Amino acid sequence: MRDALLRLANFIDGDYRTPSANRYLPVFEPATGKAFAEVPDSGTQDVDAAVAAARGASGAWAKTAPSERAALLRRIADLMEGQLDALAEEESRDSGKPVNAARSIDIPRAIANFRFFASMAESAVSESHHGEAGTLNYTLRQPLGVVGCISPWNLPLYLLSWKIAPALAAGNTVVAKPSEITPVSAWLLGEIVQQAGLPPGVLNIVQGSGRSCGAPLTSHAQVKAVSFTGSTATGASIASTVATQFKKLSLEMGGKNATVIFSDCDFERAVRESVRAAFANQGQVCLCGSRILVERSLLPRFREAFLAEVAKLKVGDPRDPASNLGALVSSEHLVKVLGFVALAHEEGGRLLAGGERIRLEGRCADGYFLAPTVFDQLDAHCRVNQEEIFGPVVTLAPFDDEAQALAFANAGNYGLACSLWTRDLDRAHRFAAAVESGIVWINCWMARDLRTPFGGVKHSGLGREGGLEAMRFFTEPKNVAIYVGG
Ligand code: NAD
Repeated sequence: MRDALLRLANFIDGDYRTPSANRYLPVFEPATGKAFAEVPDSGTQDVDAAVAAARGASGAWAKTAPSERAALLRRIADLMEGQLDALAEEESRDSGKPVNAARSIDIPRAIANFRFFASMAESAVSESHHGEAGTLNYTLRQPLGVVGCISPWNLPLYLLSWKIAPALAAGNTVVAKPSEITPVSAWLLGEIVQQAGLPPGVLNIVQGSGRSCGAPLTSHAQVKAVSFTGSTATGASIASTVATQFKKLSLEMGGKNATVIFSDCDFERAVRESVRAAFANQGQVCLCGSRILVERSLLPRFREAFLAEVAKLKVGDPRDPASNLGALVSSEHLVKVLGFVALAHEEGGRLLAGGERIRLEGRCADGYFLAPTVFDQLDAHCRVNQEEIFGPVVTLAPFDDEAQALAFANAGNYGLACSLWTRDLDRAHRFAAAVESGIVWINCWMARDLRTPFGGVKHSGLGREGGLEAMRFFTEPKNVAIYVGG
């Protein structure tokens, strides 16, 4: 007998609700290829109801003291912490990532997001200017009202909470739309905020596809700002919709990041971290370093050590604590990534590792697994080195000097992150200033301080998240000038 599917619901005005058109989409477990749940494919009516609930709660929430907002955010974090294992298991089940990663990275970070922005709410300051034209000026930073938060599937609760927490901390009410591919942790969040005592309507979660649910949310006249993380193509479509509505817009989009390794690097660390940067979350992190550029004199030694580390990575059942890589998120995504593997061959690449779908035994026989894949001998300007693959496929390439490394790193439309490996301090600073990316890591990768500006340039993003940047995005500054004479 077929197991009954878990049926998810929207969370609107403090309660779970079925979608008005009663339409659902299947949710698959990537490790098995089987549907285990169904998620509402909400439409305009559901979005309207969520926005109405958020509007209804907006005035009171904006007036709630920052310390009280902070206390509620901390209560949400505490409750999440109490359910860490269950949340991690669900996150792993619908995304395919190893449960260990969900337990040690995704869910702890989602908890940290709520705690961090609770502190930001309490410590928020605004500017004051005086002395010019006989005036004393102070700047009010007022919440915007209802904001829309749209997130992708690769780090589901981690990225959704990265938006929700600052939006709430700043006094806005939220309509959030998680990815329809990984909706379960956001669904569970509804119950958590209910238990925490967040007033109804302050956080609403509508589930569904981008077209039927995301689009009406971004274009809704009462949604004053849109914070989006996802692909550049979707970001472009949202930007064109909201441009004529003059909404605030934050876009965190795709990446094609370079890991740049000079011959004077700390070799062991550079190898270890560049493998992690390449294959973390099956290469499905916007910050993954998928173009690995190595100074020519070091390349043979680096290639050997890198491939030896890659050979140790275990692709396996996400439930198995020994698995380093789990499944890719969907069969469509697997097909897309395999398409890039074929393209790499066509473009003249030499396959050094992987390159094939992995068929596991037992419950994971139909899962979407791909071996960590490495190519070299590909030109900087070929499609494989220009387009975002968003999977466990990376390239190795040599460079002869700093100028060439910079040109290779800057080639292409993306500009999210760059990881740079050298012991030469002058060069490190020079390169960091010149590279076209929003984030530069020197001798590390994905070392995150939540206070720092997070985001990309070129086709990777518009605006910044994190710390003060997020609080600024989710508030409107209003200057008040008082004539004091003198
Ligand atoms: P996606 O653009 O397909 O979807 C992202 C979200 O947008 C989903 O919730 C989706 O339902 C929604 N959406 C789709 N069409 C929409 C529309 N027309 N209007 C409103 N919402 C719409 O992206 P994805 O495949 O879920 O995620 C992978 C992408 O996300 C990659 O490109 C990756 O680089 C990017 N990403 C970027 C960052 C960052 O911080 N820069 C972080 C994580 C992922």
